[in-house]
Amino acid sequence: MSLTVVGSIAFDAVKTPFGRRDRMLGGSAVHFALAASFFADVRVVGPVGDDFGEPELDVLRSRGVNVDDVEHVAGGETFFWRGEYGWDLNDRETLDTRLGVFADFEPKLSEASRDCDVLFLANIQPDLQREVHEQCRRARFVAMDSMNLWIDTARDSLVKTISGVDAVLLNDAELRQLTEQPSLVKAARAVMEMGPRAVIAKQGEYGAALFTEEGFFGLPAFPLEEVVDPTGAGDSFAGGVVGYVAAHPGEELDHGLLTRAMAYGTAIASFNVEEFGTERVQRLSSGEVRERVEALQRMTAFDDRPVALRS
Ligand code: AMP
Repeated sequence: MSLTVVGSIAFDAVKTPFGRRDRMLGGSAVHFALAASFFADVRVVGPVGDDFGEPELDVLRSRGVNVDDVEHVAGGETFFWRGEYGWDLNDRETLDTRLGVFADFEPKLSEASRDCDVLFLANIQPDLQREVHEQCRRARFVAMDSMNLWIDTARDSLVKTISGVDAVLLNDAELRQLTEQPSLVKAARAVMEMGPRAVIAKQGEYGAALFTEEGFFGLPAFPLEEVVDPTGAGDSFAGGVVGYVAAHPGEELDHGLLTRAMAYGTAIASFNVEEFGTERVQRLSSGEVRERVEALQRMTAFDDRPVALRS
């Protein structure tokens, strides 16, 4: 039940039509870890700079996340990302990405992090994802995320990383860009041909779709009247999905397990977007997660009364 994640540990500056934050805790590994901490013992791997202090680490610690492999690089600056959203919250613009301490990062995992059952390669430079994967050979399930920046600048390396994992989570536009396939179904198949057994297409406020050899499953997002900041939704979705898998060590890693996992990812992501950054998930309770999973289950099950269809 141990889960290791590598990915960005960041400060984010975010502007949405509903407000702004000029500097808040963020990063793919941070959002992922907070979500996954509802299911498993999570260890975060990655570097931070002098500007990252105890209050930020305490956010992770307060959810039981192990931060022993968060490496403090003296004199360095923490990864920084600035983004802006318009009225269509599915569409965001990246205004600045500063790698800071990630530029020279050489991951050296502790024995405990290497020994994980489940590994998540959250969004970060794909060479780094592979370096971490190579150190975690015992993991029975390895999943990953990425983004358009790496498809544009490090495509070959990204494909290499993809070829070694069990499951890929990408948003639909990224899947199309990576495979140059306008059809999402063909794009998912093309990614599976690279190696993974499962592809999950994240579709923002429209939900997510799972593709495996066994079939297809689509789940809408939890319907919210107000979304304040979508930053980290993809990572907390991934944290719920992969955390759920980690919490079921004895189960077959099949289509059914991943469909159930998606409901938990969807529920946690829906809380993440209600406030800026990690603010809402920091005070999220397991009861609240459970309520939304049950609501999702009621919402998506329907009782067919067959009609005589005209020929
Ligand atoms: P999401 O909204 O789930 O796609 O992820 C948002 C998080 O990704 C933010 O907290 C950022 O710090 C982080 N992020 C943005 N760009 C990058 C990048 N190029 N590499 C790694 N993490 C990034």
